[in-house]
Formats: sequence, C-alpha cells, structure tokens
Amino acid sequence: MRESARKTLERFRELVKTIKMYDEAAGVLYWDMRTMAPRGGLEARSEVVGFLSGERFRLAVSPEMGACLEELSVPEVFGELDLVNRRLVEECRKVYERNRKIPPERHREYATLTAQAEAVWEEAKDRGDFAMFRPHLEKIVAFLREFADCWGYEGHRYNALIEEYEPGMTVDQLDGVFALLKERLVPLVREIGQAPRKPDASFLKRRYDEQKQLEFSRFILREMGYDFGAGRLDRSVHPFAIGLNPRDVRITTNFRENDFQFSLFSSMHEGGHALYEQNIAPELAGTVLCDGASLGIHESQSRFWENMIGRSLPFWRRYFPDLKRQFPAELGDVGLDDFYRAINVVQPSLIRIEADEVTYNLHVLVRYELEKALFSGDLAVADLPEAWNGKYRDYLGVVPSHDGEGVLQDVHWSGGSFGYFPTYTLGNLYAAQFARALRRAMPDLDDRLSRGELGPIREWLGGEIHRHGRLFTPDELVRRVTGEEMNPRYLAEYFEQKFRPIYGLE
Ligand code: ZN
Repeated sequence: MRESARKTLERFRELVKTIKMYDEAAGVLYWDMRTMAPRGGLEARSEVVGFLSGERFRLAVSPEMGACLEELSVPEVFGELDLVNRRLVEECRKVYERNRKIPPERHREYATLTAQAEAVWEEAKDRGDFAMFRPHLEKIVAFLREFADCWGYEGHRYNALIEEYEPGMTVDQLDGVFALLKERLVPLVREIGQAPRKPDASFLKRRYDEQKQLEFSRFILREMGYDFGAGRLDRSVHPFAIGLNPRDVRITTNFRENDFQFSLFSSMHEGGHALYEQNIAPELAGTVLCDGASLGIHESQSRFWENMIGRSLPFWRRYFPDLKRQFPAELGDVGLDDFYRAINVVQPSLIRIEADEVTYNLHVLVRYELEKALFSGDLAVADLPEAWNGKYRDYLGVVPSHDGEGVLQDVHWSGGSFGYFPTYTLGNLYAAQFARALRRAMPDLDDRLSRGELGPIREWLGGEIHRHGRLFTPDELVRRVTGEEMNPRYLAEYFEQKFRPIYGLE
C-alpha cells in the first residue's frame, strides 16, 4: 500500500475511534440518566447528550471524513484493505452519503419537530386524543417522505426507511414474511382461543418479593454466561441493555410484585442482547463494527434466550426446582407442567409490549401494513385510527376502546422511527432459524438444556454470530449460519410445534 494511502487509513481509523469514543461517553450518560441521576439533573444532562451526539454526527459527515472515504474507496486502495477496514469504509461511507443528501437546515427542523412531538404524543396518549397528535405526525411523515426521496430507493419508498434499521431488507421480502405469518398465525391464534384446555396462570400473579426476584434473575444471568465482571444489573423504568464496549455491557430490569414473569424474562431478554455485545471480537472494539449486524439480528439474540430457551420445557426441568426453593410459599403447590403452560399463555390483547410470543407478531403486522400504506400514499394520517382498529379486529379479534390503547400506544412514530417495527418480528424469525441450525449442530440440545448446560449454547452463538459484530450484513450472516436465506417458515413451524400441544390441539 502506498505511503499516502497508509496515512489516510491511519487518519480514518482515528476518526472512527473518536466517533466511537463519543458514543461511549454519550452511552454512559444515557445509562446514568435512566438509572441513577436525580430528576433535577435530567434537563441539563439531556443537553450534554445532545451535544455529544451532535459532535459525533459532525465528524461522521465532516469534509475530512469525506476526503478519507474518497481516497480509501479508490479500487486499487480498497482492494488492498483487509476485511475489517473494507467493511469500516463501507459502513462509514453509507452514513456519510445518506446524511449528506439531506440539507442541514431540514435536518435541524426535523430534529426540533421530533423533540417536541414526543411530549405531545405522551399527553395525547394519556388523553386518548389522536387529533392532538395528528398535526405533528403529519409533519413527521411529510419530512420522512422527503428524506426517503433524497436518500433514494429501488421499488417501494418505504425501503429507504427500513434500510436505516435492517440493511438490505425490502418491502418485497417483508410482504412475503408477513403474508406467511398472517396465513399461519391468525388461524392458530383463533384455534387457541377456542381450545377447551386453557392453562391456569393465576399463581403467576401472587406476591413475589422483589429482592428474591432480583436474586433469581442474577442467578439465571450467571447461568446464561453473562459476565458480571464486564457488566452490571440495575433498575430502570423500562428495561434495556447498553454495550459501552465489550468489557462493559450493562443491563437493567424492573420488578412487578404481582407479575412474576416480568423481571425474569426481561432480564433474560436484555441478557441475550448483552451476551451479543460482550462476545464481539476484540479486534472490532473501538470501531463502528462493534455492534450488532442489525436491529433484527440483535433482537434475535434477546428473543432466543427469552422465549426459545427461557420459555421452554427442558430449561425449566433443570431450573424449576431452584425457582421453587426461592419461592416455596408462592410455588409450592405448582407442578412443572402447569408452570410451563402458564408462562406460555396465548391471549390476543391490545398492547404490543404486553403481548405473548405468538400474537406479538400480529401487533407488528398491523404496524407494518399501516406504515407501508402511509409511505405509498394509500393511507392518510387522518385515517390511521380507523385503519388501526379495523386491523386489530381482523387479526387479533380485539378493538381498542380509545386511541390511547390503540394507535397512540407506541412512542416510535413520535421520534420518526418508521421502518423500525418490522425488526421486532425479524428478530423472532431469525431466532427460529438460528435455533434450527443450533439444533442441527447439537442434536442433544434438549438433554443439555435439561441439565443446565447453557455454556455450549452460548459458545455456539458466540462463534457463529456474536464475534462477527457488524462485519456481515444480516443476509450474509443468516446464510453463513444457517446455509440458506431468511425463511419465515421456521418461525411458523416453531409456534405450531410448541403451542398446539400446550393447548391440546391436534
Ligand atoms: Zn430487545
């Protein structure tokens, strides 16, 4: 490599490292805001976080970054780069080009709009008043249509938005995914609703001491292989995981005294995200590739641990005795089978974040169809509530009594996160496909689970998925791990094989 190219590469890597240091600093402050900081300090702190994000953004689109990317993209130079540097150049070029296409003043106007919109949404949600939020949402959608046209896209305009969260994913693929899920899950949920044999989950609503819940969550996280020497577990209103660097990946949880499931399964969920971040290869640390391959792939790791391991029968064969020892009065009269069925109740409901494993995807389906229609021009913002209620009735058989528990329930749209929702279902779908590949590599998976041998599972995920960070696109990664492209059939099959026996269906 020529001397000048070598110097440019060095300068480029310094820029990347600085960007990552801003990320880490903003990340620590964010974590502190959500866990420890007194309320009084939050307003000033938001300004600091905003400043750091702004500086990071400035660097990512700076003329200096542009010059580095231009020189490193020259075919002779690019061809001499190793895989990590090639991917870094591609990743930074994508961010650079995407953002340079939006005029800075439009960017600022949009940032101000979304900052205001969140507060308006919150009040509108509390009042169940869509009309109050509507003007803001109309402006946000108009901005994003304009941005999508600046970014450019092939096929559907919505593709430009999905790209932000799930690189390479398109409406064509998602249409296929959701059509299959709709065809298989809507009837399954209906059948389950009519099943005569329903689990009794009332014992999950007994009073479970918070401290004991915390101890048990910590125990399970240790069993999963979450490294407390490179992380910690704290309390926040909404559970989350944050990877500052692979040696400092923190998770939070919360407790509901009368809902045994909440803390444990949210800990396993965030623990799944955290295992991903803790096991990214050291050579990717300090770069923008030290991240998940996409939101969908990240979510596949949390869903895998939460649902496919944590809500499985073999897992509880091993751990239910421990749980009973922790809660002898609350669970003394409960058998393993009844417990397993209770943590797998399927019940159509109005609120996505409280939904069970199966119906969850129907909540996402509703949002996907509506978002797509908003950006193709087939649906006006004003008609959202009616369209929302119609789809809930058709797919889930329930209708909101007001917009607060309907179209206004999620925060995402107020922040302009259109194209984000599909990644939740993609996470489930990737998880089912990865689980199938794992079962092929480890035919005695259930026996191992029954013995609490979680180490080999974590190592398999680490070697196949975690260590690569963002080195591969989601599509490349899925093909590497499973030998085929993304296939929604595995999720549908997993649901049918798991839930038909639970509900005594033929
Ligand atoms: Zn998650």
